[in-house]
Amino acid sequence: MEHILETRKVVILGSGPAGYTAAIYAARADLNPIVFEGTQPGGQLTITTEVENFPGFEEPVMGPDMMEIFRKQAERFGTEVIPDRAVEVDLSQRPFHVKGDDRELLAETLIIATGATAKRLGLPSEEKLMGYGVSACATCDGFFFRDKKLMIIGGGDSAMEEATFLTKFASEVKIIHRRDELRASKIMQERAFGNEKIGFIWNSVPLEIIGEKETGVKAVRIQNVKTGEIYEEPFDGVFLAIGHIPNTSIFKGQLDLDESGYIITRLGRSHTSVEGVFAAGDVHDTIYKQAITAAGAGCKAALDAEKFLEGQKS
Ligand code: NAP
Repeated sequence: MEHILETRKVVILGSGPAGYTAAIYAARADLNPIVFEGTQPGGQLTITTEVENFPGFEEPVMGPDMMEIFRKQAERFGTEVIPDRAVEVDLSQRPFHVKGDDRELLAETLIIATGATAKRLGLPSEEKLMGYGVSACATCDGFFFRDKKLMIIGGGDSAMEEATFLTKFASEVKIIHRRDELRASKIMQERAFGNEKIGFIWNSVPLEIIGEKETGVKAVRIQNVKTGEIYEEPFDGVFLAIGHIPNTSIFKGQLDLDESGYIITRLGRSHTSVEGVFAAGDVHDTIYKQAITAAGAGCKAALDAEKFLEGQKS
């Protein structure tokens, strides 16, 4: 006998600000949503430090604490949150088939809020030493580098934020950037420029991170891309902050994605190329990528899903 799967009105993939805001709205609309938490419960804010720019929090709030509040608010209205991730979806017909590691169900509408993951440089030495002196998460690993000299790679807000955070522990932090102009916002730049422990290596890229798993990072071989000069400088740890890639591998070939893999949505809306599938947050946002814009997008996706379900009734 064929196994009969449960059908849910709204299935939400991802538990960052987008996923949980979608859940709050869908739950309050009586749509009984279920949230697959994904591989990083709470999303990227759980590996950040203080959030100072989310309206409603007058004082800075720690990222993980904020996401705990989001989850509780979603659950208060009856959202079911499960510690599972979607490993396979079939969007070829409705209801859509969603398969997790543990749970398998059918979804009348699907809200994709799977976010994005930190990018890597692609150096073999980076892979070898990841977790052994190379990290993509300052808040997770900064503590291990008390009185050490650290390198941060990147020129965006993340690099500035992580560099500033790491000065709590490190004796010296150097930001290496491939250009001579930062991408980061003015306020974050000024904070980094004003910190006496932070220095900059401009127009340069790391070619190799030198070290062994047993002894950690010893140095970085650096190339100045303007002059071509190559040299080694001692470092005790390397932190990556070079942006993100969207978590969309399971949707390839089923949804329209742009050349970087972000889900394409209808201008100003959350609708994807498949009717009944909506996207919210960093998985479709190539511009803003903020917690507040993700939350707003989650709200829009839930309202769009609700409207879609109403349209199916008539
Ligand atoms: P981002 O803005 O995309 O910046 C990535 C940086 O890494 C850029 O400076 C880029 O250089 C550099 N880069 C990319 N690939 C590289 C490579 N292969 N080798 C060397 N350098 C490389 O990413 P982000 O800093 O993670 O920020 C993402 C979003 O989150 C942004 O919208 C940001 O405003 C937001 N954010 C906000 C806050 C806050 O407000 N508190 C904190 C963190 C992040 P180029 O500049 O040359 O492209």
